[in-house]
Amino acid sequence: MSERDLLIRRIQNGTVLDHLKAGSSLHVLSALDISGEDGNQVSVAMNVPSKRIVKKDIIKVENRFLRAEETNRLALMAPNASVNIVRAYKVVEKRNVEVPSSFVNIFKCTNPTCITNSNEPIGSELKVIRSNPAVLQCRYCSRILQVEEVVGTRGRIYG
Ligand SMILES: [Zn+2]
Repeated sequence: MSERDLLIRRIQNGTVLDHLKAGSSLHVLSALDISGEDGNQVSVAMNVPSKRIVKKDIIKVENRFLRAEETNRLALMAPNASVNIVRAYKVVEKRNVEVPSSFVNIFKCTNPTCITNSNEPIGSELKVIRSNPAVLQCRYCSRILQVEEVVGTRGRIYG
């Protein structure tokens, strides 16, 4: 392990979010509802020199294992990020974040008159029409949505 990897303490169990765009970590923390209020240790390193990208941010969250739904959220903000699941100080799962072709029930359409925001039990479906930076389009009302508009929203889950 290089000295660079030791910039922030290793975690025993939890999730390491690596290769985040430099300066994006605070945004990622809030989008993933990582507030530190649960008492688990959260380490954030910003603007760390990196081989893959010029500078990057790293987040280490102890005792939290990112679920697929959360990884999907991350894909929108940090398409080049890698997610490492750590157990007993070892990386047991490493996955690259991939931007899916559409986000189903993850985010909300921002059009207030969209059927997905009505009383109808219809969940949101936002198609990714461009990636990096991502541009989305609602399947139902065809509204074009930018990342900044939707990252803070939560889709409704039915069924
Ligand atoms: Zn819509």
